[in-house]
Formats: sequence, structure tokens, C-alpha cells
Amino acid sequence: DSKRAGKNQFSFYNPKMQEQALHAIHLEEELRQAVCRQEFALMFQPIIALEHGRTEKFEALLRWNHPQRGMQAPGSFIDTAEQTGLIVPIGYWVIEAACKFVRRQMHSGHKVRPVAVNLSVCQLREADFADRVEALLIRLQIPPELLELEITESMLMENVDLALVLIEHLKRLGIRISIDDFGTGYSSLSQLRQFPVNSLKIDRSFVRDLESSPIDRQMVEAITAMVHKLDLKVVAEGIETEQQMRFLRTIGCDYGQGFLFARPLATEQALHYHGHASLARNNTATDTETCN
Ligand code: C2E
Ligand code: MG
Ligand code: MG
Ligand code: MG
Repeated sequence: DSKRAGKNQFSFYNPKMQEQALHAIHLEEELRQAVCRQEFALMFQPIIALEHGRTEKFEALLRWNHPQRGMQAPGSFIDTAEQTGLIVPIGYWVIEAACKFVRRQMHSGHKVRPVAVNLSVCQLREADFADRVEALLIRLQIPPELLELEITESMLMENVDLALVLIEHLKRLGIRISIDDFGTGYSSLSQLRQFPVNSLKIDRSFVRDLESSPIDRQMVEAITAMVHKLDLKVVAEGIETEQQMRFLRTIGCDYGQGFLFARPLATEQALHYHGHASLARNNTATDTETCN
């Protein structure tokens, strides 16, 4: 331990570390400006019913349209946004923008799909979070069932009491909740049972090697059976191949999300996306006709 501390102290003077620290400060300043200047955008990735290929819902994914560096994925800025608390104002912007996408769907004449939004732990800790979301839904006249909030398994496990109170409040408002990145956070079935959530998303890391790894296949099959016993829906993340999709469909996984179906789409593209045609073709002709 003392060795570690010594190393850390030493690395304070390491030019690489100093560069990283300066980069973080600069990024924080840029993010603050990005909040004022509204440089954020949402992409919407369809989540598909594996049975017939229709779009069940969308996941809203944050992008930062940086004035010099162009469109940035969350991996490049979300840590800094969380460490600085900037994720809180950004997070409200995300929920509002997701609700506006729901409203666009309502006015499009097509079937309206719910939108799922990712939450950060800082947002869980905001005492008036649920009240503010409720006020927003009322102001924009969005039925609460059309908003889903994704909370990662690790966020739940690190803040069990806090998460439970918040989830119960959100559920009373009619908002749907899903557990994200499941399988990476060391929770047990009995722990999960106490959270009144609607669905659970199996992390991409279990889906990636389905073809080559019998253990991953067993894991995913067991998780699916367990989640169905709890009367929840199962979503598999990161489906990239037909084989992964076929396996997941065979074991009864309800929904899938991944590049095989669609990448995250810009608003207009998402509004015109109604389902995955090849899955519909595997079913009856009538199924194909109703796919749109
Ligand atoms: P996540 O919630 O697990 O979202 C899924 C991520 O997997 C997205 O990355 C998506 O583009 C990517 N993905 C989907 N299908 C595939 C696939 O078939 N293959 C591969 N390789 N990747 C796939 P993205 O958009 O870069 O987001 C990364 C993470 O950033 C999200 O993981 C989520 O934890 C976080 N995030 C995104 N938007 C928000 C937000 O509005 N607020 C917060 N707090 N976090 C967000
Ligand atoms: Mg997510
Ligand atoms: Mg996820
Ligand atoms: Mg993930």
C-alpha cells in the first residue's frame, strides 16, 4: 500500500499525468460552455422484438457536437461530466430532448414507441429528481409510460437504499425502469427482486462471444430464465450477427438491440424506422404486412 501511495505521489510529477490533468480541466471548461451553447444531440437506437422484428422502443444515446472535434460519443466526456456534476444539467436536457422525440412520434401518425434514457449516479442523488421529471412530463404532455429510465446494475448495487426509494417514486408516476449492463455488477437474484423494475438488459460482453463460448450461452440462457421468473422482460445488448440473434430468439429473449438491426439513428431516421425486415420475413406474410 505504501508502495502504491509512493507511486502516486511520484506520478504527480509525471509529465503524462500532468498533461491528463490539464486535459480534464480544459474538458470541464468546454463542457460548461457546451451546456450553455446546447451543443448536445441525441441519437436513437431501436430495440427490436426478436419474435417478429418490430421496434419495441428506442434508447436515447447522448452525443456532443464539439465545435472543433465534431460528433463525440459519451466515452470521451461522460466521466468528466460525472466528476464535475455537469451530468445533472446535461441529464435534464437529455430527458427533455427524449420527451420531445416522443412528442414528434405522437405527431407523426405512426405507432408511438417509448424512449429509454440512461441515468448517472449523480442524478440518483438529486433529492428533487422525480419531481422535476414529473413536472417535465406534465409540461410536455407526455404519458409517463412512454419514458423509461435505465439504471445500471452497478449503480443499483452501490446505492441500494437510495435507488429503491427513487425507483418506487418513479414507478408511482408511471415511468418505466430498466436495469442496464446486467451481468457486470455482482448482484444476486434475491437482491434484484426488491427493485420494482420492468426489464433487464444483458450486457454486451455476454452477447459478443455467444457463438464461440458455451459458457456465455449458458449464462445468457440462465439469466433469461431467471428474469422471466421475476416476470420481467429481457433485452440483449450489442447484437451484431444473425447467429447471436437466432440463439437469443431460440432461448426466448424478448428484445434485442445492436448494429445487426440498426446503429444509433438521427431523429428523422429513427422516426422512419419501424422494424427489422429480415426477422419479419422469417414469420408469416401477414406479419410482414403489419410490420410498418
Ligand atoms: P449503454 O447504455 O450500455 O448504451 C449502449 C452502447 O452500446 C451505446 O454506445 C451503443 O451505441 C452501443 N452499441 C449498441 N449496439 C451495439 C453493437 O451492436 N455493437 C457495439 N460494439 N456497440 C453497440 P454509446 O452511444 O457510445 O454510449 C456508451 C455509454 O454511454 C452508454 O452505454 C451509457 O452508459 C452512456 N450514455 C449514453 N448516453 C447517455 C446519457 O444520456 N446519459 C448518461 N448518463 N450516460 C449515457
Ligand atoms: Mg443504456
Ligand atoms: Mg447498456
Ligand atoms: Mg453497456
